[in-house]
Amino acid sequence: MDPSGLARLDRRIAGCRACPRLVDWREEVARTKRAAFADWTYWGRPVPGFGPPDARLLIVGLAPAAHGGNRTGRMFTGDRSGDVLYQALYDVGLASQPASVHAGDGLELYGVRVTSPVHCAPPANKPTPAERDACRPWLVRELHLLRPTLRAALVLGAFGWQAALPAFAEAGWTVPRPRPAFAHGAHVALDAADGPALQLFGCFHVSQRNTFTGRLTPEMLREVLRSAAGAAGLPTTKG
Ligand code: SF4
Repeated sequence: MDPSGLARLDRRIAGCRACPRLVDWREEVARTKRAAFADWTYWGRPVPGFGPPDARLLIVGLAPAAHGGNRTGRMFTGDRSGDVLYQALYDVGLASQPASVHAGDGLELYGVRVTSPVHCAPPANKPTPAERDACRPWLVRELHLLRPTLRAALVLGAFGWQAALPAFAEAGWTVPRPRPAFAHGAHVALDAADGPALQLFGCFHVSQRNTFTGRLTPEMLREVLRSAAGAAGLPTTKG
């Protein structure tokens, strides 16, 4: 694959202004900030995917958080959801360090890329269906570029699952009809006419609501990560 193609895509995504409501929101949040981050210069733009261009496993959320990715410019970085996700990636040997704090902190992911079907932080963490549809072509392009190496995807939460399935279909994998239902631990193989299948896994979202209540425990997350990594041909550790 062409590694520069993904870097170019990431730059183009970061300049997108297609959704007026989200452009207003992300920029207003970046201006007004949260008191705890008053000395930060917020990113305030679309947040591109993070991870190597030859990733074998793709982790798909829903959208960046207002004071997380929208502040730091990196997916799942700088909020509690990301703390849980990157700690688990580190625990199973897929990340170089247990925390993702800011875009220049040196974190590396091993064979894993993290992205989302909506690249701008939405008010109340809820993109509209029109915004979700407007952003889909970015994910489809990312999937096309990753396709030569991509063998598994782990989708966090039912909203991300619903948003990502059409993108997988548009990128060349066959999504069964009726569409597979989201569940924690769901595993479906998406065949492709002209290449290897994509092993698709579902996992409860790493939201505070799920992790604080114990609906999603660190062990549950590590277990799904190990399954998805194994299906992608990535080695993991016990952790
Ligand atoms: S959500 Fe996606 S399509 Fe809409 S402005 Fe952000 S990057 Fe562009």
